[in-house]
Amino acid sequence: MISGGLDSSLALRLIVSQGIEVVAVNFSTGFSLADHLQRVTPKGTDPRKLRNEVAVLAEREGIPLKVVDISAEYLDVLKYPRYGYGKNVNPCVDCRIMMMSKARAFMEEIAADFVFTGEVLGQRPKSQHRHTLDLIEHESGLQGRLLRPLSARLLPPTIPEQEGIVDREKLMDFHGRSRRPQERLAAALGIEEYQQPAGGNCYLTDPNYAVRVFDLFDHRNKSEITGEDLTLCKVGRHFRLGERTKLIVGRFEEENDFLEGFTSGRTQLEALDHVGPLVLLEGEVEEELVERAARITARYCDGRKEGRVRIQVIRPDGASSVLEVKPYEPSQVEAWMLR
Ligand code: SF4
Repeated sequence: MISGGLDSSLALRLIVSQGIEVVAVNFSTGFSLADHLQRVTPKGTDPRKLRNEVAVLAEREGIPLKVVDISAEYLDVLKYPRYGYGKNVNPCVDCRIMMMSKARAFMEEIAADFVFTGEVLGQRPKSQHRHTLDLIEHESGLQGRLLRPLSARLLPPTIPEQEGIVDREKLMDFHGRSRRPQERLAAALGIEEYQQPAGGNCYLTDPNYAVRVFDLFDHRNKSEITGEDLTLCKVGRHFRLGERTKLIVGRFEEENDFLEGFTSGRTQLEALDHVGPLVLLEGEVEEELVERAARITARYCDGRKEGRVRIQVIRPDGASSVLEVKPYEPSQVEAWMLR
């Protein structure tokens, strides 16, 4: 099971170099930073950030790759994690259990002998402690058949090691948060290009993203929250204007273009006489909040220094009106901003 990061690169090389036939599997949760960057690419983005690291890795090692989209069923893991969240909105333990369970099913489907991952004992505060690794192995039904090549010599021998399919002596004893042992091994194996840092490709570990998602959980019935709501949390600046009213302001042209796809059911605001963001207002839209939204829209357009700015407001039913408003000062919008 590979993610495309350094740890899975190393684990993969350790197993492939033993002459073992490997099929890579990757589970797409819908929260990959690289996937989102491919949809909304700001000008000047380093092209390396847009690469599909999983595909690059599988190709480099010459192995087949199966990518499985689990984004629809993943929503419940995110909303109702049995083992809670990590530092942000990352339900890592539940996430690993779900992926490992699916990896087990795939292992059985293709009659493979075992599953392996790039996990390192003690590397992540919650999901890679010894008792958590054991829990994940147990809950996924992979007992004895889940190998962690980077820490294998610190863990009990797995069935493939006992059966001689894998040479345990050629595996590692890495533990803890330092990346130095992995970097040294990468240099020794001639692996030069890899994604950094490990786990950095998941939106759910991003503190700003977490603020927006927890705000949604606080203000909406969880069962009503959709994948679209969570996608929008990745885009623009967000403002909580009322218990049931939220505003999303595009930050650059590509985000404005992206937001165009989400206007249905939302009120749109845009400056009439100046270059500025596309702004979406969602939830209960009282007139007082429309005016506040218009003043925020004015604050982020090129006319923000003007005394009055004309803002076009298009309602979900297509009705259009124009409000002439005074742009807010930056300090006036701080209290509503989610970050
Ligand atoms: S960092 Fe993201 S993808 Fe990785 S285990 Fe945690 S929630 Fe899952």
